[in-house]
Amino acid sequence: MSTFQAPKGTYDLIPPDSARFLAVREAISAPLKRSGYGYIETPGFENVELFARGVGESTDIVTKEMYAFETKGGDRLALRPEGTASVLRAALEANLHKAGNLPVKLWYSGSYYRYERPQKGRYRHFSQVGAEAIGAEDPALDAELIVLADDAYRSLGLREFRILLNSLGDKECRPVYRAALQEFLRGLDLDEDTLRRAEINPLRVLDDKREAVQKQLADAPLLRDYLCDACKAYHEEVRALLTAQGVAYEDDPRLVRGLDYYTRTTFEFVHDGLGSQSAVGGGGRYDGLSEMIGGPALPSVGWALGVDRTVLALEAEGVTLELPAATSVFAVPLGEEARRVLFAKVTELRRAGIAADFSFGSKGLKGAMKNANRSGARFTLVVGERDLAEGVAQLKDMESGEQGPVRLDDILTTLQERLA
Ligand code: AMP
Repeated sequence: MSTFQAPKGTYDLIPPDSARFLAVREAISAPLKRSGYGYIETPGFENVELFARGVGESTDIVTKEMYAFETKGGDRLALRPEGTASVLRAALEANLHKAGNLPVKLWYSGSYYRYERPQKGRYRHFSQVGAEAIGAEDPALDAELIVLADDAYRSLGLREFRILLNSLGDKECRPVYRAALQEFLRGLDLDEDTLRRAEINPLRVLDDKREAVQKQLADAPLLRDYLCDACKAYHEEVRALLTAQGVAYEDDPRLVRGLDYYTRTTFEFVHDGLGSQSAVGGGGRYDGLSEMIGGPALPSVGWALGVDRTVLALEAEGVTLELPAATSVFAVPLGEEARRVLFAKVTELRRAGIAADFSFGSKGLKGAMKNANRSGARFTLVVGERDLAEGVAQLKDMESGEQGPVRLDDILTTLQERLA
C-alpha cells in the first residue's frame, strides 16, 4: 500500500469489477442511442451560479453538498453535482434549440460530485448516465424517457425495481398548492430548520425522512388535489402511454425529489434491495429551467440513472452479467525466437479484431499457463523451438483440453473459424 488512499467517500474502479460498470453504462445508454439521443459531454466544473440558479438556492445539493471553489483567476466554480443544468447550458450556448429540430435529444455519462455523508450507495464521487429531451411539451416524450430507462434496467436483468410517478403541477397550480401546504406546515410542531425550509421550499419538507416529521405529514394536502385541468390531462396521458407500453408504475402523490426545477411529470426508480439509498435513478419535466438560467422558454424532460447504485442493485438481486472474456487467445512463447514470431502473430490477431494477449516477462511454461488460465482465454498458443523448426504452434482449447499443431500461416484463419 502507498502512503495515499482514495479520498473519503470515493472508491476506485478496478478490474475485474470495472468491467461491470462499463457494461452498465453501455446497457443504460444503448436504448437512448437507438432512440435519437446524441452524445454530449460537458466540463466537470461550471460557474457556481449555474447550479445555484439551475438546481436551486434552497436545495441541500447547493447549500451543503457542492464542491465550490475560487480559481487563481478569481472565477467562482463548482464541480458538477448533477448533469441537467450543464447540458441545458451547453445546448443553449451551441444554439441547438434554434436548429429547427425540437426536441433536442441528448445523452451523457460521467462523474458527479456531492459533499455528502458517505455510506453504502452514497458517495462523494459517483457516476451517472443521463438523458435530456429539450424543447418539447408532449406527454409521449415523458413516457419515452421512462420506457427507455425501464428497458435499460430490464435488459440488465433487474426485476426488483419500482417506478414512482407523480406530477408537480405547473406555474398555474403549484403556487396555489404551495400556499396551502405552507399554511398546513405552519401549524405543525417542527424544528426551526424545517420551519425555515417550509417558508423557502415547502414541497421539500414532504421529502423529510424523519419519522417524527412524516407522522405529522399524514394529513398534509396533496398536490394531485390541486392540479389544474391542463396538468391533470397531461399527467393522465403520460400514465396511459406508460400502461400501453406495458410499463408498470406506482402513483406516489408525495414524490417531490431534491431539485427545485421540476414541473409536472416527476419520477423515481427505486430498488428494494438497496436499503436506505434505494433511489437508483430519477428525473422529470423541467419546463422553467431554461428561463431560470437566462434562456428562452424550452419545456424539457430528462432523467439520470446512478451507475454505482445500479451495480449495487445487480448485486442485491444476484444478477451476474454475461461479460465476454477480455481475452480470446493467450500466446505463450518458449525461447527468444519463438517470442519474436509469436509476438508478431499476436499483433496480427489483434489487428484482425481478435482479443489476444501475450506472456510477458521470462516465465516458465507452468507460470505462463497459469496466466493463460487467469486471462479467461478460450485458446492458448504455445510455440517452442521444435514447433518453430516445423513452422507450427500448439493450439489448445482451454474448454475441452484438446490440443494440436496448427501451421503458423494458418493461425489467423483457424482461430477466426473456431471463435466464430
Ligand atoms: P438525483 O439527481 O439526486 O436524483 O440523482 C440521480 C441518481 O444519481 C440517484 O438516483 C442515484 O442513483 C445517483 N446518485 C445521486 N447522488 C449519489 C451519491 N451521492 N452517490 C451515489 N449515487 C448517487
